[in-house]
Amino acid sequence: MRMRKKKWAEPYLEEHQDYAFSNPIEYKGKWKQLLDCKVLHLEIGIGKGDYLLNMAKMYPEEGWVGIEKDRSAAAVACRKAIEDGDIGKKRMIVGDAALLEDWFDEAEIDVIHLNFSDPWPKKYTHKRRLSSAGFLEKYKRLLSKEGIIRMKTDNKNLFEDSVLYFLDADFKLLSFSVDYRRNEHPEDAITEYEQRYMDLGQPIYQLVAKPNHVE
Ligand code: SAH
Repeated sequence: MRMRKKKWAEPYLEEHQDYAFSNPIEYKGKWKQLLDCKVLHLEIGIGKGDYLLNMAKMYPEEGWVGIEKDRSAAAVACRKAIEDGDIGKKRMIVGDAALLEDWFDEAEIDVIHLNFSDPWPKKYTHKRRLSSAGFLEKYKRLLSKEGIIRMKTDNKNLFEDSVLYFLDADFKLLSFSVDYRRNEHPEDAITEYEQRYMDLGQPIYQLVAKPNHVE
């Protein structure tokens, strides 16, 4: 769902370029140094950014980078983080995840989070899905040896197709749920979209996948 354009977004992003980067090629291979962390998380499509903010509070020793291409949503996420106080080990990239390899080096990321990614239902648009083959190949290069991908969605069709994308791309599924919030998961924050679907009583689909790295 696209957000209405916000007039204040551009000047706000401009002003906070030390938090919301636009093209951080200089940090490629250096994120753990920048954030002084051992574990680096990347969330793609953070929307208004609540998940990143809450997870960073729950895991303050770990590094959290969020990517968002919608500049109005990114500005909202940026403002929430700035108004929350210390930016700590969090940063944002305002841009398209297609360019991930400009910003991250091989084996640099430990956990990739895909939360309620756009479902792109029409067949000719499937290749834009963030869990489609082209993206999975990039993620495989960027994930560390023990690296994993965590995905949540409300969309059954996207979920079913994604299971196949992961298996076809030589990932193994470490866990898999078709009603993730039926059990308590206090270790995992609830996203804005997730809360909406939970309020409607709809199930949340979730999986954790790991590449079968060849030694
Ligand atoms: N994760 C949030 C928002 C989900 S909506 C939540 O769960 O509440 C999906 C978001 O992904 C949108 O804000 C959209 O702009 C963003 N997005 C989609 N494709 C993207 C891409 N290629 N790169 C960066 N962000 C993307």
